[in-house]
Amino acid sequence: MNYTPERIKIGEGKISGLFAIFFASLSFLALLCFRFPEQLTTPDLRAAYSGELAGKLLFCGIIASFIFALASFLISKKKRYAVIALIIACLTIVLGGFNVEGQAVDKVNWSLGLDWLVLDLLLMAVLFVPIELVFPQNIDQTKFHDEWRTDFVYFIISHLFIQFFGVVTKKPAEAFFGWMELSALRDWIEGLPFVVELFFALVLTDVFQYWAHRIFHSHHFLWRFHAVHHSTKTMDWLAGSRTHFVDIFVTRSMSYMPLYILGFSTITFNTYIVFIAIHAVLIHANTSINFGVLKYIITTPQYHHWHHCEDPKHYGKNFAVVFPFIDMIFGTFYLPGKVWPKRTGLAEASFPKGFIRQTIYPFRTNPFKNLLKEDEKSKR
Ligand SMILES: [Zn+2]
Ligand SMILES: [Zn+2]
Repeated sequence: MNYTPERIKIGEGKISGLFAIFFASLSFLALLCFRFPEQLTTPDLRAAYSGELAGKLLFCGIIASFIFALASFLISKKKRYAVIALIIACLTIVLGGFNVEGQAVDKVNWSLGLDWLVLDLLLMAVLFVPIELVFPQNIDQTKFHDEWRTDFVYFIISHLFIQFFGVVTKKPAEAFFGWMELSALRDWIEGLPFVVELFFALVLTDVFQYWAHRIFHSHHFLWRFHAVHHSTKTMDWLAGSRTHFVDIFVTRSMSYMPLYILGFSTITFNTYIVFIAIHAVLIHANTSINFGVLKYIITTPQYHHWHHCEDPKHYGKNFAVVFPFIDMIFGTFYLPGKVWPKRTGLAEASFPKGFIRQTIYPFRTNPFKNLLKEDEKSKR
């Protein structure tokens, strides 16, 4: 018999215990960033925050872990979570968590994005854990379902290697368009008002993303790799992280091509990155938030959940990540009123569990059990 994990109930002290561990662990990782900034922080991201701000966040993180641990102690019969959190928080303090200072950082060629991991995880958890608790779509779904650990590993890996992915996804744009003289076009784009430039960047990248995404669905060999993203049965704010590195490389290289070629301003580029980072998480989240009539202007969780629908009748819909009108133009739009798909995932494929096995699997084996001959196109 399959064991289905139950949704954690409010008032048992388990949630506060987990929050305590979460804040204590993030504080410890933030302290490591202060201790080893050359190896563990991202040069581009460091430019966006000061050491002082990061130090204040670290201070708040330690205090938050103590408050939640205390709450868990008072409410819960089991003290395990609170004790684990207190050990990590105390270790962070002993190693200097209350006395950190920003320092000049030597330039190194490669570093891990631990600061990006800590900050983005904090932001996403603060935004989406409450949203999924208060406005869930599937009310019985727990955060700690069978697949969450695998999705979390994808989240960690894609954040730690952000610098590597940034460099390699730029390469195709440089190789194909680096020789072109585009300064007049770039000057024109730089002269546009910020809002127009941002809209322009979003539409262009979404059209490029649309076609990269559709090619992944329609070519049998590429579909093996993108199918990893579709393999999750449990949609939530971590589920979108499950993406094979081949998929990340090709789709991101294609989508970002207009940004790299046309030389959008730094503020536009950074706003785009922040918007996409939040929006991509939102559309996978387990939430019924649906934006009213705006759902025809911008994609919603309902919209993207239909893209992940398990039922073959609805395959090959809703490829756009931001603008539904792109699917309307190319004939792949599907949004049936207030109806949501009954199930998400891949009925006909069998992927192994775990990040490493899922990474290797599509290179070696066709995960689809039937129907697809090697020379056939995917029907998705
Ligand atoms: Zn897809
Ligand atoms: Zn998706």
